[in-house]
Amino acid sequence: MEINWNLEHTYQQLPEALFSTIHPIPVKSPQLVLLNHSLADELGIALEQYDVATLSAIFSGNQIPQDARPLAQAYAGHQFGQFTMLGDGRAILLGEQITPKGERYDIQLKGSGRTPYSRGGDGRAHFSAMLREYLISEAMHFLGIPTSRSLAVVITGEPVYREKVRNGAILTRVASSHIRVGTFEYARNFHEGKYLKDLLQYSIARHYPELDEAENPALAFFEAVMAKQLELIVNWMRVGFIHGVMNTDNMSVPGETIDYGPCAFMNAYDPMTVFSSIDTQGRYAYGNQPFIAHWNLGCLGSALLPEIAPNTEEAVKLAQSSINEFPKAYEAQWLEMMGHKLGIAKVKASDKALVDDLLHWMKKHKADFTNTFLYLRRNAFPQDSIYQEADFKAWLQLWEERIADKRSKAQELMDQNNPAFIPRNHLVEEALEAASNDGNMQPFQELLAVLQEPYNDKPGFKKFQEVPVEVDKGYQTFC
Ligand code: AMP
Ligand code: MG
Ligand code: MG
Repeated sequence: MEINWNLEHTYQQLPEALFSTIHPIPVKSPQLVLLNHSLADELGIALEQYDVATLSAIFSGNQIPQDARPLAQAYAGHQFGQFTMLGDGRAILLGEQITPKGERYDIQLKGSGRTPYSRGGDGRAHFSAMLREYLISEAMHFLGIPTSRSLAVVITGEPVYREKVRNGAILTRVASSHIRVGTFEYARNFHEGKYLKDLLQYSIARHYPELDEAENPALAFFEAVMAKQLELIVNWMRVGFIHGVMNTDNMSVPGETIDYGPCAFMNAYDPMTVFSSIDTQGRYAYGNQPFIAHWNLGCLGSALLPEIAPNTEEAVKLAQSSINEFPKAYEAQWLEMMGHKLGIAKVKASDKALVDDLLHWMKKHKADFTNTFLYLRRNAFPQDSIYQEADFKAWLQLWEERIADKRSKAQELMDQNNPAFIPRNHLVEEALEAASNDGNMQPFQELLAVLQEPYNDKPGFKKFQEVPVEVDKGYQTFC
């Protein structure tokens, strides 16, 4: 049957060195497991016209839409600080879907087979990891945090070999684009840098068209990406999200959360929280994320230098003075966000102590990050708990005095900024185990449904809020 979406291919107008045209490698017996109907509607893809076999074929890459022109993107990146050539080693871009509203989204198959950038990898992904990406990226979307989204998961019917044999799967993901800091590092450091200008012009036109008229578009672009990333990291900090592998190739130019591998949510508050099995030094720990974002943006600045000014010294000076603003700007936005979590509409410098004291107390008592703010939001605290102790009560009194004259505005802010539900690690793992060991998708679907309304503190859902003591001691996540 004829399959046509509404795909365009502006990326293919860029110099060929920036990508490789290549088809997904067909899989043995694709079987559709998950389909995001509401996202498909937003994209303007009418799924109801296809039977299950066709859907399985489409979302495995066995049958691509007639208007797809698949490619793998080239990029480089700093992985744990080391510069290296990368690229889509297991992902294929089908094209850019133009939605009924006229928006443009990349549609990409992840786990679709080897590409020219696969290096030693098999080009494949396993079922449990793709379910994880689906669940957490959708949770981020409903938390109101910019992110790639997940459209479908298909089991391939082929084994993939990891620490044990696993079921292969393919995820279809959707993003404003997959242009990364690492794409710019690639353009700057390969092919004598001659494609940097093309990539910059393309990225401005696609994501920051208002900068086209700027006096120094490259510098304005650098500052715009910095602002977007700053906002994103502040949001991660707000909900206790730990990306886990903030390499420069995983930092998106339009400012979305991308590449869900070893990410996880923090339970007990501790800035050094890290779950990724490969992050042995804690480089990407919760509390390090703003510093790493700053460092990564430095890599973007370096890559952009020739476009910022023809004279390197002059370019460095300009880029440096922009990026030097980051720490101060971050501090200010972070404090504003923490103020909102406490119901303070307009933070003052003196509120920093109130915030710091609470965080200090939380760390000392290993208080759950999400639930502490949820209890404040409810203004109700569990009996026989750390929240009944004198040190907390003393803090509570100061806080109540601070918001006393604007109680209803405070409530509104707290309701909007403190989720009642986040993807709890132990529940995520339970759902993935039921799905991959027993083919039982029910726990996954139940959890997904709860995470689609994360701010709605509904009664009767305690199971999704309570955290067993030290449940994530020794918990590890994988790329
Ligand atoms: P990540 O750590 O997910 O950002 O991936 C880093 C690089 O490894 C990217 O270039 C990926 O495309 C590539 N990669 C990850 N897993 C595989 C795999 N199984 N086969 C081929 N390439 C992979
Ligand atoms: Mg990646
Ligand atoms: Mg990855």
